[in-house]
Amino acid sequence: MEKEVKDFDILQEFGSNVFNDYTMRQRLPKDAYKKLKKTIEEGKELDPDIANVVAHEMKEWAVEKGATHYTHWFQPMTGTTAEKHDAFINPTPDGKVILEFSGKELIKGEPDASSFPSGGLRATFEARGYTAWDATSPAFVKKSENGCTLCIPTAFCSYTGEALDKKTPLLRSMEAVDKQALRIIRLFGNKTAKKVTTSVGPEQEYFIIDKEKYLKRKDLIYTGRTLFGGMPPKGQELDDHYFGVIKERIASFMKELNEELWKLGISAKTQHNEVAPAQHELAPIYASNNVATDHNQLVMEMMKKVADRHGLTCLLHEKPFDGINGSGKHNNWSMVTDDGQNLLEPGKTPHDNVQFLLILTAILRAVDLHADLLRLSAASAGNDHRLGANEAPPAIISVYLGEQLEDVLEQLADKGEATHSIQGEKLESGVNTLPDFQKDATDRNRTSPFAFTGNKFEFRMLGSTASIANPNIILNTIVADVFKEFADELEKADNFDMAVHDLIKKYVTKHKRVVFNGNGYSDAWVAEAERRGLPNLRTTVDAIPALVTDKAIKMFEEHGVLSKAELESRAEIKYEEYSKVINIEALTTINMAKKQIIPAVMKYEADLACGANQIKEAGVEPSVQLSQIKDIDEQLVLLKKAVAELEKINSEASLMDSDIPAQARFYCDKVIPAMNAVRKPADILEFLVDKKAWPFPSYGDLLFEV
Ligand code: ADP
Ligand code: MG
Repeated sequence: MEKEVKDFDILQEFGSNVFNDYTMRQRLPKDAYKKLKKTIEEGKELDPDIANVVAHEMKEWAVEKGATHYTHWFQPMTGTTAEKHDAFINPTPDGKVILEFSGKELIKGEPDASSFPSGGLRATFEARGYTAWDATSPAFVKKSENGCTLCIPTAFCSYTGEALDKKTPLLRSMEAVDKQALRIIRLFGNKTAKKVTTSVGPEQEYFIIDKEKYLKRKDLIYTGRTLFGGMPPKGQELDDHYFGVIKERIASFMKELNEELWKLGISAKTQHNEVAPAQHELAPIYASNNVATDHNQLVMEMMKKVADRHGLTCLLHEKPFDGINGSGKHNNWSMVTDDGQNLLEPGKTPHDNVQFLLILTAILRAVDLHADLLRLSAASAGNDHRLGANEAPPAIISVYLGEQLEDVLEQLADKGEATHSIQGEKLESGVNTLPDFQKDATDRNRTSPFAFTGNKFEFRMLGSTASIANPNIILNTIVADVFKEFADELEKADNFDMAVHDLIKKYVTKHKRVVFNGNGYSDAWVAEAERRGLPNLRTTVDAIPALVTDKAIKMFEEHGVLSKAELESRAEIKYEEYSKVINIEALTTINMAKKQIIPAVMKYEADLACGANQIKEAGVEPSVQLSQIKDIDEQLVLLKKAVAELEKINSEASLMDSDIPAQARFYCDKVIPAMNAVRKPADILEFLVDKKAWPFPSYGDLLFEV
């Protein structure tokens, strides 16, 4: 019998766990509300008196929701979120407590956070780190059966003011775009806009599997991905999962996930099955870059929590399973003015929208000049399995513009001016009862890493686990940098129209090479890109140096986004993180092979041998048994040898920590192949051994029995 769906009053519940603008307006004294709002909008410092009023009201509201604790919720350089909970209690002389929360506690925290990675920015004896309230992202309560906590989004800096988190540089980069984009639109006569904000809508892919089966896989538990497992007879080749009917169990998970997200003010909008079996996607409606980044962290956290409540496990790793698609994140990005203009809106006739053409040219230039940084922004050990494989864009950065824009740019480059824009034709379905409609001027392209999709760019290289902060810090800064260059030149031009025209023509011609509208997944493109001189940084270790080139340091410092020391520390953390991930994978591979696979195979082999002897005693030649034993033994020998080799290489790697980049390189070039060499015979053995004898669930069990 079908259970009836419980009602959820979305209008009532949306944002109910957020101390949002609506709640602040309702609850704060008028004057305090106005001042706070001004602070947020103008990015000014908050008056301490107002902070006290806001803190008090925030606490009252949170306590009504059931909160006992508050936390400064921050995003250290690990890419996850961190929280240290403090109770609101303050003892009174009569042995009781009152609940208090001051403006000071709201604005500033000082977690002893010496165990967060700082990449040498802070020695452990200088453990002071400060968290500072980011009033542009509203506070919220995290509620569960096990308690309720008021979470205050904060930035995290060292005693000396260096950013130790992802939020601080993200906010700095947003300010950089704001400043430079305003200069550009002023040149085109906009006098009303006071602010330009980058907006982001991240589409999040993930896998859902059965929790009981998950718990039987040490690789999934320790590394988030399977290190062993042969493909079942069926994978994704029939394309029958993509957009398919959502299974009841998954639907009930999605329903609860949506409700939890809506309560947190996250506008989860789209959900569907993805290409691989057991893979799904969620997309929210876009929000300001900073809020979208916080929200994406919460989406990932909620996915895991809610899955768990349903006896499921959510896998966010970029490549949980070999042989089928992995998971990514699409970062839809645009720039919007506070007077309501999307700077990436081309209009119907882009050829005569000069402001748009200039902005587009700036983005092309930014992407071409800093392709290495964009590539780096999506780099991680996990994502290395996707980029360049057959399912995700290659590690080469190129831009897809579509027919219409490419045609306009071609006119500009060839003739010096663009006189027309290709228009969408009528789509005729051939069925009289279906309405004909106007097609878009441009089709979509699913294989481009950086695609223009109507009124936004979609950066598609991101890995599914990563915070979206880094890609946006980089995207914002490189665009701000070219805006600055253009504004510097145009502001001093005698003839603005001529100067804009020349600038567009010059740079379209120069950076055309980064535009590519074809199939980004093809080998032909890899060769073509090489001819064009576009960088192809295949692995994370190849990409990390981009962060500390002179070009990068100069740019990040110029816009006050990251200092040289901050960049160097981030590069160091990236190397270390990479090495640690591969080391854990190698150790898990060794552990599973030695403690699970080899013993199970030996036992099965011995059972076969006993059986063979019994058959022989019965007077029959056990030829099948013997040949099976032989096949198994061959692979077992290979496996044993490969494990010994991996152990040797991995311990060599662990001794190299005096040279962090060289160590990461060694993990990449030596340890990963040694791991793959263990997997190969093990995966063959899986198919030579009785299913019942195999020590953990198979791909088939994990992917198709949810
Ligand atoms: P598509 O199907 O082209 O990927 P969708 O309309 O499904 O586009 O949007 C994907 C994501 O892009 C959603 O999160 C959506 O809110 C976001 N998005 C749409 N317009 C913009 C914009 N102007 N700026 C940033 N993100 C946007
Ligand atoms: Mg998309």
